[in-house]
Amino acid sequence: MVDVLVIGGGNAALCAALMAREAGASVLLLEAAPRAWRGGNSQHTRNLRCMHDAPQDVLVDAYPEEEYWQDLLKVTGGQTDEKLARLVIRESATCRGWMRRHGVNFQPPLSGALHVARTNAFFMGGGKALVNAYYRSAEALGVRIRYDAPVDALELEGGRFKAARIGAERIEARACVLAAGGFESNREWLREAWGQDERGEWPADNFLIRGTRYNQGVLLKFMLDAGADRIGDPSQSHCVAIDARAPLYDGGICTRIDCVSLGVVVNREARRFYDEGEDFWPKRYAIWGRLTAMQPGQIAYSIIDAKAVGRFMPPVFPGVTADSVPELGRRLGLDPVAFEHTIREYNQACRAGTFDHTVLDDCRTEGLAPAKTHWARPIDTAPFYGYALRPGITFTYLGLKVDETAAVRFDGVPSDNLFVAGEMMAGNVLGKGYTAGVGMSIGTAFGRIAGTRAAAAAQRTHRNGAQHAAA
Ligand SMILES: Cc1cc2nc3c(=O)[nH]c(=O)nc-3n(C[C@H](O)[C@H](O)[C@H](O)COP(=O)(O)OP(=O)(O)OC[C@H]3O[C@@H](n4cnc5c(N)ncnc54)[C@H](O)[C@@H]3O)c2cc1C
Repeated sequence: MVDVLVIGGGNAALCAALMAREAGASVLLLEAAPRAWRGGNSQHTRNLRCMHDAPQDVLVDAYPEEEYWQDLLKVTGGQTDEKLARLVIRESATCRGWMRRHGVNFQPPLSGALHVARTNAFFMGGGKALVNAYYRSAEALGVRIRYDAPVDALELEGGRFKAARIGAERIEARACVLAAGGFESNREWLREAWGQDERGEWPADNFLIRGTRYNQGVLLKFMLDAGADRIGDPSQSHCVAIDARAPLYDGGICTRIDCVSLGVVVNREARRFYDEGEDFWPKRYAIWGRLTAMQPGQIAYSIIDAKAVGRFMPPVFPGVTADSVPELGRRLGLDPVAFEHTIREYNQACRAGTFDHTVLDDCRTEGLAPAKTHWARPIDTAPFYGYALRPGITFTYLGLKVDETAAVRFDGVPSDNLFVAGEMMAGNVLGKGYTAGVGMSIGTAFGRIAGTRAAAAAQRTHRNGAQHAAA
């Protein structure tokens, strides 16, 4: 029988598998995806948010624990567990040496990468290179890996893990780590979680999934049905406004539209609906998916003029272009009269200031609702550009409740051989909101804890088994 079974094949699972193996356990990792699609959402990532008290290789200045914590507190509106959040933050200061030993390389951020040179360490080659490095290292250390291995059920006994099932196949282990992602790829579940809005629409029907199609939430549902303690609200997720032309799954990072704070955003009725300049884009990009989801038809349009070009990472597909505002409206399928009215009203409300996209500048509107509080400049310079936006789900926050041991809990009692990491428990730290790079910080911290604990649990079971046999 294997010591530690790891279910999942992304960052959290790989961190757990590597730590368990380093602690001397035999490890089997089951990845639902085929080899070519291994790595879950982690393959799409670019960086990890890291605490540091002084400049470190690719990280400039300092990003102390307290500032990281305050950022998290702000974006979650207090829906976070301080103890677990601080644990993640502290781990993020020390994990990179270990990551490097397993083949992960870092690079300075490219220009235009969301103002994060201070706070986020970028993976050389992105998340795909990170997961490839971890798989290589895991194989070299003797971790057994099976692809096309979607676990559909577990056998539990009094809160203890006994075996996992893939159809009729039964796989026993002394301890288990669940790291099988959220339920973001399960469109039916998203539909149920978001429900019907006041217009009678089912918003989730128009969502696109930015990452893997394999995070169907099968084990999350199984565990919740089995009575595991839960955390988080099923309708909360990381949800970004992305290019409406993106594919249903795996569009990845390049489908994001990053020019929102440089212009205005209107809905299908050509009306603005939120302050596009509320805060720096990295702190706000993750609210625009939900905002778009709340608009009629779950669609919105990001509008800029020629002045914005070159100030943001250009999307892969060019936007719709026109030489006049009404023509742009027409080409986007908006009522040109209503659209022109909205832009005119906005332009008239812009108060001249000193435009500076790197600070919360003094260019704002006056007497306009909703206001644009920074970077407000008239949209008056042709050519004009428009990008249709849809909600793009990154990952869901409903998960299993844990403490600092990463143990799955039943009625507050921690299991002694079943652990959870990554998206399946991220809701303990992220009740809502997001700040760039924290997903990988959570998965790395708790993946490593879960792997170490699972190895120790397997050794305990081993010893107890040997004592029983000797008695
Ligand atoms: C486009 C995109 C960009 C992102 N960029 C960043 C970033 O730069 N920084 C950051 O911190 N976060 C980023 N995130 C979020 C980040 O991807 C997640 O927080 C993190 O990868 C979660 O890791 P995980 O191991 O829990 O899940 P995943 O990496 O999604 O892994 C889950 C794994 O479980 C497998 N699985 C699912 N069900 C089963 C089953 N029943 N049996 C067996 N295996 C199963 C899946 O195939 C997959 O391999 C991004 C996400 C996306 C989609």
